[in-house]
Amino acid sequence: MEKLSLEMPDEKGYFGEYGGQIIPPPLIDIMNEINDAYDSVVNTKIFQEELQQLYTDYVGRPSPIYFAKRLSEKQGGARIFLKREDLNHTGAHKINHCLGEALLAKHMGKTKVLAETGAGQHGVALATACALLGIDCEIHMGEIDIEKEHPNVTKMKILGCKLVPVSRGTKTLKDAVDSAFEEYLKDPVNYFYAIGSVVGPHPFPKIVRDFQSVVGKEARAQFLEMENKLPDILMACVGGGSNAMGLFTAFLEDESVKMIGIEPAGKGLDTTEHAATLTLGTKGAIHGFECYNLQDTNGNPLPVYSIASGLDYPGVGPQHCYLKDIERVVYETIDDKECLDAFMQLSRLEGIIPALESAHAVAHAMKIAKNMSDDETILVNLSGRGDKDADFVASCLSL
Ligand SMILES: *Cc1c(COP(=O)(O)O)cnc(C)c1O
Repeated sequence: MEKLSLEMPDEKGYFGEYGGQIIPPPLIDIMNEINDAYDSVVNTKIFQEELQQLYTDYVGRPSPIYFAKRLSEKQGGARIFLKREDLNHTGAHKINHCLGEALLAKHMGKTKVLAETGAGQHGVALATACALLGIDCEIHMGEIDIEKEHPNVTKMKILGCKLVPVSRGTKTLKDAVDSAFEEYLKDPVNYFYAIGSVVGPHPFPKIVRDFQSVVGKEARAQFLEMENKLPDILMACVGGGSNAMGLFTAFLEDESVKMIGIEPAGKGLDTTEHAATLTLGTKGAIHGFECYNLQDTNGNPLPVYSIASGLDYPGVGPQHCYLKDIERVVYETIDDKECLDAFMQLSRLEGIIPALESAHAVAHAMKIAKNMSDDETILVNLSGRGDKDADFVASCLSL
């Protein structure tokens, strides 16, 4: 294994060969300003105290670690623990970085926070943070997604953000990204583009990782307190990779701790309907940075699919690409069927309905626990709750 560098990213925003700023020069200046503001603001006592207070009183942190006894017994083998990000206000880990980004925008004196959303999870978390902090929020969303994601659309409206329907092209996430970005370019000095995962041009992979790293910091201390040792394996699902980086970061130097990121195999790795970017992708650029990509021979992003809409992204965070190459983290896949099975097992054995995204990580934990001994432990990041998926799963399984 190549030596792990913890001083990441470098000055140009690279994690090894990945990341950077693949954007026009005027935007590079803007991104560098955000980076400078971030470096100077985020470590001040006033910013940290405000953010920590919100994490505690508003989000409900620290989220507990729960030993899933019945799930573990059913499988046999290793004991499975869950880091309960599903219990956060708004029901997932996304609120951790949305609060951080909205607070940063406010401290930088920005007048409007902008973003796109696909399934609406990022939109709701960001609209929540902006309502709380009293800053204008504008979310771009494809018309097809607006039709499909009714509860999230309603929530965003209630929360007071400006929802911009995107009617061009495929009327889905890809066009929403372009539309939101065009709006951002109208006044990048006063607007803040809040990216929804550890992706995009530097400094966003760093910023989002840092705000999410509270998950791993808490988990490491909690687990030591509970078990007097560190977990043997960490597990998290990977879409863009923010909940996984959030859990992994605090453990990167703990050589005894193995880490596994789980990508969606969708309808199978031998079909075109999956989003296994690290597993089957090739190096390329997307949305302003370099990473593994699912792309055609001309370098255009391929359509991606997962039963969990939060996981279907054709790129992936640059730090994951680096961690894969140096073999610090291993990436595996779980398909739709295995995901649905884990969703039901966790619901019926523990009374915890997971997000379909998180169910991918639970599924892999169940798969490998069997072949481990009962003094070994797996800590799964349960990134979100499954209320949003309940009707869909019930119809899939004709419940
Ligand atoms: C958005 C989302 C994900 C995927 O995003 P990452 O950046 O890969 O963490 C995972 N789980 C839930 C519950 C989500 O809402």
